[in-house]
Amino acid sequence: MKTLGHWIGGKPADGASGEFGPVYDPATGEQTTRVALASADEVDQAVAAAREAYLDWGTASLSRRTAVLYAYRQLLDARREEIAALITAEHGKVHSDALGEVARGMEIVELACGIADKLKGELSTEVSTRVDVAAIRQPLGVVAGITPFNFPAMVPMWMFPLALACGNTFVLKPSEKDPSAAYRLAELAAEAGVPDGVLNVVNGDKTAVDRLLAHPDVAAVSFVGSTPIARSIQENAVRHGKRVQALGGAKNHMLVLPDADLDHAADNAINAAYGSAGERCMAVSVVVAIDSVADDLVARIAERARRLRIGPGTDPSAEMGPLITAEHREKVASYVHGAAAQGADVVVDGTGLSVPGHENGFFLGVSLLDRVRPDSDAYRDEIFGPVLCVVRAETYDEALALINGSPWGNGTAIFTRDGGAARRFQLEVQAGMVGVNVPIPVPVGHHSFGGWKDSLFGDLHIYGNDGIAFYTRGKVITTRWPDPADSGGINLGFPRH
Ligand code: NAD
Repeated sequence: MKTLGHWIGGKPADGASGEFGPVYDPATGEQTTRVALASADEVDQAVAAAREAYLDWGTASLSRRTAVLYAYRQLLDARREEIAALITAEHGKVHSDALGEVARGMEIVELACGIADKLKGELSTEVSTRVDVAAIRQPLGVVAGITPFNFPAMVPMWMFPLALACGNTFVLKPSEKDPSAAYRLAELAAEAGVPDGVLNVVNGDKTAVDRLLAHPDVAAVSFVGSTPIARSIQENAVRHGKRVQALGGAKNHMLVLPDADLDHAADNAINAAYGSAGERCMAVSVVVAIDSVADDLVARIAERARRLRIGPGTDPSAEMGPLITAEHREKVASYVHGAAAQGADVVVDGTGLSVPGHENGFFLGVSLLDRVRPDSDAYRDEIFGPVLCVVRAETYDEALALINGSPWGNGTAIFTRDGGAARRFQLEVQAGMVGVNVPIPVPVGHHSFGGWKDSLFGDLHIYGNDGIAFYTRGKVITTRWPDPADSGGINLGFPRH
């Protein structure tokens, strides 16, 4: 069995706490790795390495920083297959999906390569006689990132490339459930020329996170994970005087109007609900179908759901892999088992699935629940598995009220051919990311990603311009070069221009 430690100061560091967590191959159910769980002391060592590295990196020229990021981008491009294989081995998602994850993460590295343009300051000349004003942005110092299991490479890449490009140094605490991809990203960064200590990885759990949140040398924290933890991370980080962005969970609704192309809508519902076994924060977990087309739409989704091929992520013919752990699989299955008693029609029940040759893997078939009641557990909770709920609504207004009544506001989508309805929806729906005939509207790298309501705690979204704002602080410099002939004289009044 492999043992994975930390990456501190540009080299591996064995775990010294004596505590380890299990990492499984979800397709076989076997433990493949034990990951070190950092003590507060080990977190301190990583922060100290980052602080030391900041002395140089924080003032490194833009061309030096971007040269390293370009090299990193090239290296990631060459190693996509390897990183994707690491993701599949510990997360379970199918290889093509893992490759997509790497590509979406690389978008942020590409954005970071262009940081020189984004960090251009502003200059106003002659705001008063011989007075100029310049606005610049500077790095924060040491910043930390805490990431979830479901995108073990992409979500770390939402954070550290931009943070580094802006001149910060970074301590990453990846999910302890699938930590190897993030660790590899740090090794590759070193290979690309990122100086020692600029990017550190501490593996661990709550102990490590709590220390990062309390550490006086950590200036800011980016978090992505579930809503209860995101909420507490924000509260805790603010209490320690830190800048924080904490992205939480979701329950994303896809509204299908009667004029939509129902085959197109059914295909997209399937892809967005069951891709990555539903373990995506932008998964569609609720289809809101207008009554007049609901029967037809449910039939089309069900027919497709029954045909999905489920197997290990390494099998090129598999469309969906296993769930992350046995406990999570049981929890997801319990929503399907309890659905009928709470009023839903169980149209497809995937809970009995067994994959031949992989009987001990954490597999669960896909399930489709129709006529789900908004007061039922399946509707109210983020299930985070391959379970799609359908709620029926009589009108657009009823559907909109349902969506806007959700405590979450991550992503949402409308499927329609009616531009006017789509436009209304864009403006009226309460969510941070909206798709029009696009079921998973994850913004490209040069826009920013973030939800509303219980899907994001903090002000700034992640990556894009918001990401750059998050990892920098503004400074405004007012300059006068006095004319020797004009001393200005004494004037105790508040300066006016
Ligand atoms: P999680 O909240 O359990 O864990 C996220 C991170 O927090 C991990 O690194 C974990 O070690 C740490 N953590 C867990 N419990 C903690 C505690 N009590 N104190 C301090 N740190 C703790 O989330 P997960 O199960 O790994 O990921 C799935 C969740 O993440 C889902 O809710 C999903 O919607 C959400 N997610 C959101 C986004 C987004 O952009 N909004 C993206 C991906 C995932």
